[in-house]
Amino acid sequence: KLPLAGKVALVTGGSRGIGAGIVQRLVRDGAAVVFTYAGSKDRADALVAELTAGDGRVLAIEADSGDVDAVKRAVQRTREAFGRLDILVNNAAIARTGQLVDASADDIERTLAVNVRGPVVATQEALRHMERGGRIINIGSINSEYVPFPGASLYALSKGALSGFTHGLARELGARGITINNIQPGPVDTDMNPADGPNGAWLTGQIAVQRFGHTREVAGLVAYLAGDDGAYVTGADLRIDGGFAA
Ligand code: NDP
Repeated sequence: KLPLAGKVALVTGGSRGIGAGIVQRLVRDGAAVVFTYAGSKDRADALVAELTAGDGRVLAIEADSGDVDAVKRAVQRTREAFGRLDILVNNAAIARTGQLVDASADDIERTLAVNVRGPVVATQEALRHMERGGRIINIGSINSEYVPFPGASLYALSKGALSGFTHGLARELGARGITINNIQPGPVDTDMNPADGPNGAWLTGQIAVQRFGHTREVAGLVAYLAGDDGAYVTGADLRIDGGFAA
């Protein structure tokens, strides 16, 4: 029996990068998976085609994480499609970088809407339906606690909020048999942070293992937390950063 057989997961921002890696892993482990995307319909459709060809049960929904109603609808459609919801992965996020003095009101609002309010609303909606054994998994960032370069204050703010949210909510969910955790990756090779981009060489030099992480490595930690073995981990910030912040 596959480790997540019978489970249903919702992954926000699954069309590319870490989210797509998480979708692939959860499907491979036997879960039925719904994922959201905002702009990359072609990438989302291609991922669905690839996974359904391999017998996976997977569905893509266009839902901007900055839109409260769209987020709520995505949770509801997950239940309608697959009958339940066991695992919520709050992965979708944006990284608007630059000096704080240059940030617009929209930069501040959009960062908080997508990176913080989206996960909070998705979690709230998911908790209306989640049963014992449920899992909330946030994809935060090592930047919540360690930011060794300028220009990332708004992004770090949003990821710090996810960390505090995780600690606080763990105390409400423990008695219900539901865990919530915050995975904090260091540099992972994606469109958001390409290993061959302008900051790639400098960042690589700061990482103890001297390379960027792979999306499948973050997905592996998600699979661990989602599975039975993860039941005693809750309220935790889990670093997966190759020793970037060691
Ligand atoms: P990418 O930018 O490569 O991918 C982002 C994904 O989120 C895409 O699928 C995108 O879909 C989706 N997305 C973006 N905005 C929205 C939105 N408003 N609503 C719904 N979906 C949206 O990012 P990564 O894969 O690198 O990052 C994934 C997570 O990991 C984020 O939370 C990020 O902060 C975190 N992280 C990444 C690190 C890295 O080094 N890469 C390091 C630490 C944390 P679409 O294209 O369809 O809009």
